[in-house]
Amino acid sequence: MKIAFKKLSSQSLHFEVNRDNAFFSGELTLKKSNLAQLNGTITGSISTPCDLCAEEVERSLNEEIAFYLSDGIYEGSNEWMDVVEVDHSIIDMNELLRSEIELIKSDYFCCKNCEGTSLDREF
Ligand SMILES: [Zn+2]
Repeated sequence: MKIAFKKLSSQSLHFEVNRDNAFFSGELTLKKSNLAQLNGTITGSISTPCDLCAEEVERSLNEEIAFYLSDGIYEGSNEWMDVVEVDHSIIDMNELLRSEIELIKSDYFCCKNCEGTSLDREF
């Protein structure tokens, strides 16, 4: 799913996109001529390896996602904001979901079998 930046307005635009078993839905709202706000959630699941035993497990998702999108290079001074710069004025929702999933995958994760093993270890 690709959305042209110029299609955005102050009226929220609903989007839905999925990748494997992960679903990303939410709204895009234009805040300024070249700045839009994205609010959404990622649900469903992703397959990811356990950090301890490396076994692939299905991890369920329930992530609140919120950031800004800038049409071209963002030159604002609000450094506290999470701003993603959009190339060629086209917002690639699949690409946004892919990078969010990469972020989630980079978090520490251990499967149910490994959960608590370091605490329950018997000497
Ligand atoms: Zn494990």
